[in-house]
Amino acid sequence: MGKEQICPECRSKEFKMGEFKGYGSLFKKNAIIKSSEVDANFCVNCGYVLTLKVRNPEKF
Ligand SMILES: [Zn+2]
Repeated sequence: MGKEQICPECRSKEFKMGEFKGYGSLFKKNAIIKSSEVDANFCVNCGYVLTLKVRNPEKF
């Protein structure tokens, strides 16, 4: 941890965490009941999404 992240698109070092909820949740294929919020780490400058992480992978 603590590793500096640099945007591959615009070289910005400013990132923020966002999350997908509701319609943006990741759903297991053919099983709509199973879903999880997805955390996104994105560049504040250009919007490039560096990482996406499913919050509750054990649900799947
Ligand atoms: Zn960027």
